[in-house]
Formats: sequence, C-alpha cells, structure tokens
Amino acid sequence: MIPSAFDYVRPADLGEALRILKEREGEAKVLSGGFSLLPLIKLRLAQPGLLVDLRDVGGLNGLTRDGDLFRIGGRATHRQILEDRPLTDALPIMKDAASRIGDPQIRNWGTIGGSVAHADPAADWPAVLQALHASIVLRSADGERTVPARGFFIDTFTTGIEPAEILTEIQIPFPPPRSGGSYQKLERRAGDFSTVGAAVQMTLGADGRITQIGIGLTAVADSPFAATHAEDALRGAHPNDELFREAAAAASRQSRPATDSHGPAEYKRAMVTEMTARALRAALARAQAQG
Ligand SMILES: Cc1cc2nc3c(=O)[nH]c(=O)nc-3n(C[C@H](O)[C@H](O)[C@H](O)COP(=O)(O)OP(=O)(O)OC[C@H]3O[C@@H](n4cnc5c(N)ncnc54)[C@H](O)[C@@H]3O)c2cc1C
Repeated sequence: MIPSAFDYVRPADLGEALRILKEREGEAKVLSGGFSLLPLIKLRLAQPGLLVDLRDVGGLNGLTRDGDLFRIGGRATHRQILEDRPLTDALPIMKDAASRIGDPQIRNWGTIGGSVAHADPAADWPAVLQALHASIVLRSADGERTVPARGFFIDTFTTGIEPAEILTEIQIPFPPPRSGGSYQKLERRAGDFSTVGAAVQMTLGADGRITQIGIGLTAVADSPFAATHAEDALRGAHPNDELFREAAAAASRQSRPATDSHGPAEYKRAMVTEMTARALRAALARAQAQG
C-alpha cells in the first residue's frame, strides 16, 4: 500500500524539534529508528501530516553513569545498550533483553525510546524498565517532566506521553550490592516478539532476605505491567524454590493474556509461571554471586 502524503523535517537540535512538534501538535510524529512507525505508515494505520526525524539531534543517544543513576538517551539503540559494558556488568538484565530483540538489523537501528513510546504489549523493554523501577524523562517546548515507568504504560500502544513531547532519557537506579536480575523470553523462533517475557530484578539484605524486588511481564496483558502480587509475596522473605513457585503462580494469576497466533491464553498463563520462576532463580543466582 502507498502511504498517504506527509511532510518530513530533520531538525538540527532538540530545541528546534520541540518547537516544530508544538507548532504542528496533533499532526506531527517523531521518527526514531522507524522500525515500528514506518510499517504503520505504509499500511495507513498511522497517517501523520509531518514526520520529525530525530537522527540529526545530538545528545540523545548517550549511555552514562551519573552518581546513583544510569542515564540512557532516548535514541540509544538496542545494540548500543547490548555493548555497553559498565551498564550490562551492573545490570545483566539489560543484556538479556537487548540480545533477544529482533535481529541484528533491528538492534542496530531500533531505539529504546522508540520501543517505550510505541508501547507494544509484546515489546521487551517496558517490562524490564518496570522491574528496574526506572523513570522516563519527557521534554516539550514548555519544560521537562520525569515519570515512573510503572504507570507510564496505559494501554495497548498507549502511554502517558503527550503529542508534543520527546522521550529524551531513561533513568535506571544503580543497583545496590547483592543485586541480580534476569529477563527470560519465550519466543517461537529466534528474533520473534515474545510469546511471554518475565523480567526480575532483586536485591538481598546482609541476612539473605529479599529487600528489593521488581517483576515486569511482557505480552500477557493489554500493556506490560508489574506483577505486584508476586512482589508482595517475595519482599522481606528468605528466597527458596517453593516461595518462587508461589510467587510465579501469583504473577500468572495477575496476568490477562489473550488467545492469539502465539497460543491459547491458558498456555500463556502456564508459561508466565514457568518464565517468572526461571527469572527469579537466575536473578537470585546473580545476586548471590555478588555477595
Ligand atoms: C521484524 C521486527 C522484529 C522486532 N522484534 C522485536 C522484539 O523481539 N522485541 C522488541 O521489543 N521489539 C521488537 N521490534 C521492535 C523494535 O524494537 C523497534 O525498534 C521499536 O519498537 C521501535 O523503535 P524505533 O526506534 O524503530 O521507533 P520508531 O518506529 O521510529 O517509532 C515508534 C513510535 O515511537 C515514537 N517515538 C520514537 N522515538 C520517540 C521519542 N524519542 N520520543 C517520543 N516518541 C518517540 C514514534 O513517533 C512512533 O510512534 C521488532 C521490530 C521489527 C520490525
């Protein structure tokens, strides 16, 4: 299908991009890697009047540690994240997820900001960022705001981002000692979107109890969500396999998968239990290896 006509601009800096988005609010759309937006435009499922291509806008693809925060630019590619040793050494869950997104072409061009803004329920980053209690920085011509990843994903392909805002940065707290995380993805073939994905990040206290826990789930509800019931069952407890099985079952009960080409809802619920239990065990092993 031939896309409907649209204007195209390549602003030189963030200020210009934000000004254009404000002037053409409602009809302009940001273009980052293009892997999600361009197919929608080709199918006329999206018909923006203007594409604001961010490729020349500097300062949006850095990966830095700043005190207790990792700052990841909105235009950082999946591959940049995969290859950033300071980040992936501290947070191996980021490598788990980045390495399983699509194929090399997708990882070379697709961006974390595009993935988060697009909010596909089957995308991998949203669940990981919720497990990590990350925050999302949004800029508009009128200012900046920082919102928690939890609560940002409202519905399928719907987030709290306003039309004239640009997602400029993801902020992730640097993990305390004795922390470990894991992202477990079930896919039909290598490179596919998740059938089910489970992200776990945990911190152990000096006595071995779980002091901090985050669990995010991919592709098993209208939007990626935090499995808060499972988290409640784990926080403050001594980790063991039986507890992990109970918590994983609680995560499954909180999920709302749909029957689709990836399989029946009942199968996916069973897979939530399995993938969450695997992620919990792997996260614990990594946390214990640190201590
Ligand atoms: C074949 C294929 C396989 C894939 N497999 C996976 C997978 O296994 N796991 C996975 O998670 N993803 C997968 N993806 C999606 C891929 O990760 C995309 O790169 C990602 O979803 C969108 O990022 P993008 O940079 O291409 O965004 P774009 O397509 O450019 O934009 C997507 C949306 O986000 C908006 N947007 C982009 N950047 C910003 C910003 N900085 N601020 C505000 N709004 C913004 C755009 O306006 C648009 O609405 C796959 C895609 C394809 C085509």
